[in-house]
Amino acid sequence: MMENKVVLNGTVVADRMKEQLQERVAKLSAQGILPCLATILVGDDPSSETYVRMKGNACKRLGIDSRRIHLEAATTTEELIAVIEQLNADEQVHGILLQHPVPSHIDERAAFEAIAISKDVDGVTTLGFAQNAFGLANFPSCTPAAIIAILDDYELPIEGKHAVVVGRSPILGKPVSLMLLNRNATVTICHSKTEGLANIVGQGDIVVAAVGRPKFIQGSWIKEGAVVLDAGYNPGNVGDVDYEACLTRASAITPVPAGVGPVTIATLLKHTVDAAELTVRA
Ligand code: NAP
Repeated sequence: MMENKVVLNGTVVADRMKEQLQERVAKLSAQGILPCLATILVGDDPSSETYVRMKGNACKRLGIDSRRIHLEAATTTEELIAVIEQLNADEQVHGILLQHPVPSHIDERAAFEAIAISKDVDGVTTLGFAQNAFGLANFPSCTPAAIIAILDDYELPIEGKHAVVVGRSPILGKPVSLMLLNRNATVTICHSKTEGLANIVGQGDIVVAAVGRPKFIQGSWIKEGAVVLDAGYNPGNVGDVDYEACLTRASAITPVPAGVGPVTIATLLKHTVDAAELTVRA
């Protein structure tokens, strides 16, 4: 029984993506261009600090420049927007990533909107979101794009499948739903007010967990043979899916860690390189 199971190894997918990027980074470098990602962290949330550090380190390993901006927790919305505007104007910077979440007194939406579309490498602006909805985005949100990349890398079909997405956040649940729809899946989006969640998840050929609750998706909910993608990343490296229980029913499943996470980072690097290349063509 176990031999039919595919563990969707995000580290392998990410390594392949990074290998392809190396050549593109070298080409840019030959033209005197060093792709650069600016990350902005506001406050001292330890998980966010870890994510930002991981992103910076991944840039370094690939020869991409990274600029880390760490602002104190008391930073105002206006101060944060001023920093973003400086980065927008800086020709050396190709991508801007504002680490979510920011402290609650900050208007996160206003800060996201301040990011220039040409540097919105995580697809957080309303324009980036809308372009993604039309299938026209240069930079769709990284985690949703990573989920699609994993399905494609393992040649798992999307067209015609019933995809059930649990979660509807603007950076994850909604954009991944639209991307699956654009790839001709039939998509059901679930959220905290959904009634009969277990029954709906049980209809999914593809199940995407984007809830933010450890081990929330139960094995007994999963249809036999479904493909399960766990975007969750909770304290202690725990996903939103009860992995062991879901593995017994799923035909393919992402683990946590080493599932969606590494591909998300590789996607961010890819978008930064894409953005740098677009400046050459502009
Ligand atoms: P979020 O903004 O908190 O959204 C969570 C979503 O889950 C909401 O739409 C919420 O519904 C829904 N939800 C909450 N409780 C539910 C319940 N009992 N039943 C059904 N739906 C429920 O979280 P997020 O930013 O999308 O992140 C989701 C997860 O992905 C987290 O674990 C986060 O750490 C992880 N994440 C991972 C990566 C990565 O690179 N792997 C990147 C980003 C996020 P309502 O809309 O009704 O409130």
